[in-house]
Parts: sequence; structure tokens; C-alpha cells
Amino acid sequence: MLQPIEDAAQSRAEILARIAASAEAAGRAPAEVTLEAVSKQQPMERVLAMLAAGQRVFAENRVQEARARWADLRPDGLELRLIGPLQTNKAEEAVLLFDVIESLDRPKLARALAEAMARHGRRPRLLVQVNTGEEPQKAGVAPRDVEPFLELLHTELHLAPEGLMCIPPEHEEPAMHFALLAKLARRAGLPVLSMGMSGDFEKAIRFGATHVRVGSALFGPRPG
Ligand SMILES: *Cc1c(COP(=O)(O)O)cnc(C)c1O
Repeated sequence: MLQPIEDAAQSRAEILARIAASAEAAGRAPAEVTLEAVSKQQPMERVLAMLAAGQRVFAENRVQEARARWADLRPDGLELRLIGPLQTNKAEEAVLLFDVIESLDRPKLARALAEAMARHGRRPRLLVQVNTGEEPQKAGVAPRDVEPFLELLHTELHLAPEGLMCIPPEHEEPAMHFALLAKLARRAGLPVLSMGMSGDFEKAIRFGATHVRVGSALFGPRPG
């Protein structure tokens, strides 16, 4: 049996090797793709083991859980990213806690974030979440609304997102969603593309992902 830290290091090395291989197969440099370790719902010992293995980019989907875990744990070089839906009344807390917010998806939230940033003098980087499958229950800007939304962010709020994020519909082939997100980002001149999870990150890299969000394939299944 491996000890947890060796286990985490080995698992991380395997995922990084798969990322590098997919990048190279796509004619891209491995360093163009960042591994986000999705630590939501993972036991703290696994998170600490992943930190000990050298991982520094982590993603959480709930503000409260993220605060409980990370508020007092700020290792050097940590980059904390929010990948879950954000309520307007948690915008301030999110601005204080996260380095990157990937789930910006509506004007009201954008206004709350802009106000919180002005108030605290802290500017997390932003991604706009796109609902590429136009699923009614899913967060995200509809593809046709991306351009006007970016326009509103720029002109009215002086917010400049650095890219786009998507979560493709669960039971659909993700390739067309990755291709669509890449096209929207290219059109808008945005360099960052957060797409691909445990089951499809290699495919996402083929379509240009700069950030892949990997949880269970890295840490093991989420308990419960
Ligand atoms: C949970 C989650 C992931 C990671 O999912 P895995 O299948 O465990 O890799 C990625 N992105 C978002 C937005 C998530 O909520």
C-alpha cells in the first residue's frame, strides 16, 4: 500500500503526463495547459497530500466549503479558483477568497463583483461561464449572449475577463461543446479556456483548453 503522499504524487504525475501527451499530440506545449485540482468534497488529508506533492492550483465549487478549507491555509504560490455557481450575496466573500472566479454569468453578479473589487482593492481574474448546451437548469451565458455580455462588462463595469469556461451537458459528446467554446473565445480575443474534467480533459486539450479541471481522476472518487 502506498502512503497517501506518495499516492498523491504518483496520481498527480500520471495526470500531468497525460496532459503533456495530449498537448504534444495537438502540437501544443505542455506548459500551455494548467492542471486545476478540483478539491471539492475531498477529505483534507488528500488535499494536504496533493499540496505536499507540489500542486498549487486548486478549484472549489462552493464559497463556504472553500473558506472553511483555505482561509487559514495559504501555502506559497497557492492559486484558488471558484468553479461553481456564485450567489450575488456571496460576491464579496468570493472576491476576498479566490484568485480566479470562473463562474461569472450574469450582469447582476458582475455588478456585485465590481463593487466588491472596488471596495476591497482586490481584483480576482475572471472567466465567463458559457452554457454551451443551453440547458435550462445550468448556469452560464448562452453562446449568442457572450459578445453582448463581454461588451457590457467592458464598457459599463471595466471588467476584463481573461477567458471562458464551460461544463458540457452530461450525456452529450463534449467535443462540439469544446469546439464552440474555443470558437467563442477566439472571436472575442480571449486567451484562457477552462474546459475538460476527469473523463474528457484530453479531448478538451485537443480543442485548445488552457485549464483542465480534474477532481476524481486525481484525488480518487469523492466520498459520500
Ligand atoms: C466537480 C467539478 C469538476 C471535476 O469533476 P471530476 O469529474 O471529478 O473531474 C470540474 N468542473 C466543475 C465545474 C465541477 O463542479
